[in-house]
Amino acid sequence: MSIATELQNLRDGLSPSARMPLIFLGHGSPMNAIEDTVFSRAWSELGRALPRPKAILVVSAHWMTRGTTLVDVSAMPRTIHDFYGFPQALYDQTYPAPGDPALAREVATLLASHHGEEDDTWGLDHGAWTVLKFLYPSADVPVFQVSIDMSRDLSYQLEVGRILSELRDRGVLILGSGNVVHNLRAMRYGGKPEDFAVEFDHLFADRLAARDFDSLADREKLGALLPSAHPTVDHYLPALTIAGASDARDDLTFMTDAIELGTVSMRSFVFHAA
Ligand code: ZN
Repeated sequence: MSIATELQNLRDGLSPSARMPLIFLGHGSPMNAIEDTVFSRAWSELGRALPRPKAILVVSAHWMTRGTTLVDVSAMPRTIHDFYGFPQALYDQTYPAPGDPALAREVATLLASHHGEEDDTWGLDHGAWTVLKFLYPSADVPVFQVSIDMSRDLSYQLEVGRILSELRDRGVLILGSGNVVHNLRAMRYGGKPEDFAVEFDHLFADRLAARDFDSLADREKLGALLPSAHPTVDHYLPALTIAGASDARDDLTFMTDAIELGTVSMRSFVFHAA
């Protein structure tokens, strides 16, 4: 059964009070935002199958903080074009969805144990808007971002996910955007995927499916494979947030598990109530 069929069935069975699914999308190149790719098509298909949330909380690889977990409380988050050397058509893109200041303030309080603080300077970086554009093209669902604290252990993001999980029962869709493997230093056009990329991608999928999240957040157990797959962990952390927000009641569905440019896994996944 395809992801669309599965999520269509899910939507048909959802009542307004049901738990919202959790989504992690491998966003890859910003060019997916303006090109018809296998990924942008999959995101559109997923969007058509998803229930309409009351709000969307995005944890993107591109909002990195140190010592705080910031929550964007702005009323109209700006579209951030945080990339260089791309065609003008990409800089012309906007995603004019409103924010949700009241909920965002509440989330900052909820995350007090993890140094949650309000912020009104960020907006929507390309980890968020390049995929939201396909999930909810009308940009009419309120959306706000939560930052990743780069100064902590990996397990910190599992904890953040656990704290955020209660929002699922209140109609909030939690979206993580990063990449399961992301090594731009070893990236190359054409050619086959690097061995370490395939190995980490499969290890991640196996452990996620086994709900062995602790080992996915344990640098010692991941060993030398982790710095190969992630010279910096920014694109990995949002996947851990999503894992942390899941629980035993969820089913797990994988989608778009290709490796691009030798070292960028586009693997995406959805946790949804069984
Ligand atoms: Zn990125």
